[in-house]
Amino acid sequence: MERPEPIDETLDPADWEEYRALGHRMVDDMLEYLRTVRERPVWRPVPDDVAASFREPLPTTPSAAPEVYEAFREKVLPYPTGNIHPRFWGWVMGTGTPGAMFAEMLAAGMNLNQGGGAQSGALVERQVIDWCKEMLGFPAAASGLLVSGGSMANLVGMTVARNSRAGYDLRSEGVDPGRRRLVAYASREVHSSVPKAMELLGLGRKALRELPVLADDTIDLAALGSAIAADRAAGHEPFLVVGCAGTVSTGALDPLDGLADLCAAEGLWFHVDGAFGALAALAPELRPRLKGMERADSLAFDLHKWMSLPYEIGCALVKDPDLHRRAFSLTPDYLEHTPRGIGGGELWFSDYGVELSRGFRALKAWMALKEHGAARFGRIVLRNVEQARLLEALVKAEPALELLAPVSLNIVCFRYRGGLADEVALDALNRELLLRLHEGGVAAPSYATVRGRYALRACITNHRTRDEDLVVFCRETVRLGRGLEAEGAGGDPSTP
Ligand SMILES: *Cc1c(COP(=O)(O)O)cnc(C)c1O
Repeated sequence: MERPEPIDETLDPADWEEYRALGHRMVDDMLEYLRTVRERPVWRPVPDDVAASFREPLPTTPSAAPEVYEAFREKVLPYPTGNIHPRFWGWVMGTGTPGAMFAEMLAAGMNLNQGGGAQSGALVERQVIDWCKEMLGFPAAASGLLVSGGSMANLVGMTVARNSRAGYDLRSEGVDPGRRRLVAYASREVHSSVPKAMELLGLGRKALRELPVLADDTIDLAALGSAIAADRAAGHEPFLVVGCAGTVSTGALDPLDGLADLCAAEGLWFHVDGAFGALAALAPELRPRLKGMERADSLAFDLHKWMSLPYEIGCALVKDPDLHRRAFSLTPDYLEHTPRGIGGGELWFSDYGVELSRGFRALKAWMALKEHGAARFGRIVLRNVEQARLLEALVKAEPALELLAPVSLNIVCFRYRGGLADEVALDALNRELLLRLHEGGVAAPSYATVRGRYALRACITNHRTRDEDLVVFCRETVRLGRGLEAEGAGGDPSTP
């Protein structure tokens, strides 16, 4: 039998000097990794033997820390999705920054629990929330909470909406099936986190009316008005409209001012999902396009997408702090806030959201805003929007490519067309083309279905992208498309 470990063992290193050297190596390696990101393929698959190694059984005995780090370097580090690469434009992803990487280390070192209490971290988070309000032009009196991302921020905003508009003590009673059904509205382009929130809130996905959109993918206000009237006539209780500030497929901006007017007239809660699009407000040139967002009762957005902070960080803002608190505050006596001491302090973030124990994600936002200043983030947002215009122009100028949706903000949906006319063949060819783009490692767009057609979709929320990257992307798309067309691959996407 092995000797039992001494009873005074801790998780701190036995030799701090050795540990320091290891830490310095990690910093050096990671800075080099970031510095040279452009030189590597955007993505490569995890090899089978590497994948198999993740099935090793639970380690029950210690390994030397440098060995553990080596396993990370060999098996984890080389195989990311590629979202930090300059030519990654898939889904809506963020690229991160070296400075925020350092901030994450500092935050983990302090290991603050941001649920509440008298601590500097609460002041940092409050300041970040205040800065967010200022950056997006949201009223200064609003309350806010940093959360894991847009999905959670939508859930927070929609929870406040439900609890404050139900007309009874829904928190105690639960959703009462004997009462009028609470119904919500959004365009059919709304992000899946909104119907998911409807499920989690016990309201059901069917209680979200997903309305038709106009040719530019924005919500049809007339259809919205009719749907509300029809629901009222049917004895339902309309309570919420969700506006999209940047739809996920094409980046369309709903008419937020019009939605705010309608919600005011109808007495409905106005929530805006601005996961990435809200950040367009950082650029003075783009801010007017978000007019009306400042009138929202609640606003959800991400800082890990267009603000380039590493995962995870999003934010929920609620115009009426009292309603926000009343939707979530539940303080048993073991969490009683005290007049002095550690249990003091006026900021108890756990009163404003779902989570009690919370990480110090505020630090990376606070340090990044100080290091770069909000105006630089605004310039990068604007450049990404201009790059989307550039990509649009490149697509239009290339006869083999075809634009599939109007470019509203930072998203371009297009396809390889070549000499093909058959829609089914085009869908199949472009589906295969996307996979080859990914596997080739040159560029990583994702896909969207635009009016029934399969589109390659580039969403540019990337501070590392240069204009020439988009030229390379178009050239590669045409090259691969021509190859596939010559192979006759439009017919059967499974044959390479
Ligand atoms: C990404 C996204 C979300 C969800 O945000 P997460 O940070 O991924 O949870 C919601 N709405 C839109 C429009 C998005 O792009």
